[in-house]
Amino acid sequence: AKMHPFTYTANPSRVIFGAGTLSQLPAELARQNLSSPLILCTPQQTSQASDVAALLPSTAGTFSKATMHTPTHITDEALAVARDTSADSIISIGGGSTIGLGKAISIRTGLPHICIPTTYAGSEMTPILGETADGVKTTRSDPKILPGTVIYDVNLTLTLPVSMSFTSGVNAIAHSVEALYSTTTNPIINLLALEGIRALAAALPKLKKDPQNVDVRSDALYGAWLCGSCLGSVGMALHHKLCHTLGGSFNLPHAEVHTIVLPHALAYNAPALTKEVLDSLAAVLPGSEGDAVKGLNLLLEKMGVERALKAYGMKEEDVDKAADLAVAKPYPNPRKIERAEIKEVIRRAWAGEPAS
Ligand code: NAD
Repeated sequence: AKMHPFTYTANPSRVIFGAGTLSQLPAELARQNLSSPLILCTPQQTSQASDVAALLPSTAGTFSKATMHTPTHITDEALAVARDTSADSIISIGGGSTIGLGKAISIRTGLPHICIPTTYAGSEMTPILGETADGVKTTRSDPKILPGTVIYDVNLTLTLPVSMSFTSGVNAIAHSVEALYSTTTNPIINLLALEGIRALAAALPKLKKDPQNVDVRSDALYGAWLCGSCLGSVGMALHHKLCHTLGGSFNLPHAEVHTIVLPHALAYNAPALTKEVLDSLAAVLPGSEGDAVKGLNLLLEKMGVERALKAYGMKEEDVDKAADLAVAKPYPNPRKIERAEIKEVIRRAWAGEPAS
């Protein structure tokens, strides 16, 4: 294929990957001359946080109130703890919610941030932070938000419930799908995107029968890392805008919305995509028979995930409101955003019809 001019900016972070790599945390802190990390987690992951604390000679304590959408009043509380305990660093162990809190503290204090991700959402690989104040979510990007070290210990993902593994995994795949047709994409990100989708699409359906299989979990987490890198490097389009709008305005769960919307967003954009993009995507989706939308539909079918937004409480009359919001602000997208067609995309996702 013809090589177009491009810009590629690497996001510099140190990645330690593999089953059991959590044991390298003490050495990583020593390498950075850190001795008093504040450990962050959600109320659901305090036991994993105590496993982390148990590995270390000293800590500044554990703050276990990380919450979805990074509310600033929680960040303020955690900042006070970090200050009172003279923490010299932040360790976040958990999914996007906990990592978001780590980023919020790190960008305000300059404290080094070590991430230990336990889902496939990919926030650890991005310089992006979304925060909520008085119910309004704002997102910003700054190279200083990118965590310095990421420890991907596959063993920590064995406890991720299968249903969350599925939706979190498709959330990751969505980053790579949109990276393939991003206006700011480049050949390096293209490689990462296709390899990330390939690894996740092969691994996820296997988790249904064998959720504790370390090799399968390894492939899934490896794919999630690459997909997160794509999200952190290039601009996203229709799919991410739709999910942001639906999640934020109708209080729908993040990863579940990504899972439902992705095939519809791809079907909408497909007529505007090159054959090369569509063929390369289809090639990494098992059973696609050369049709990328079919490949995504099939992947969701194999996992047996929920396909309808209405199952999460979205009302039929919200379809119109969502369409208004989705076309309110222009953004780069391969296919022109037309209200009537976008409304039909949202309606199908609401009803749970397969994408076509
Ligand atoms: P999450 O962090 O909200 O986690 C969901 C629940 O699962 C929590 O209760 C958590 O404690 C639990 N959990 C996580 N890992 C577990 C494990 N291995 N075993 C058992 N329980 C586990 O979910 P998420 O999908 O990872 O993150 C979603 C949030 O992250 C959203 O707010 C989203 O906006 C944000 N996000 C941000 C970026 C970014 O680049 N800034 C990227 C992706 C997601």
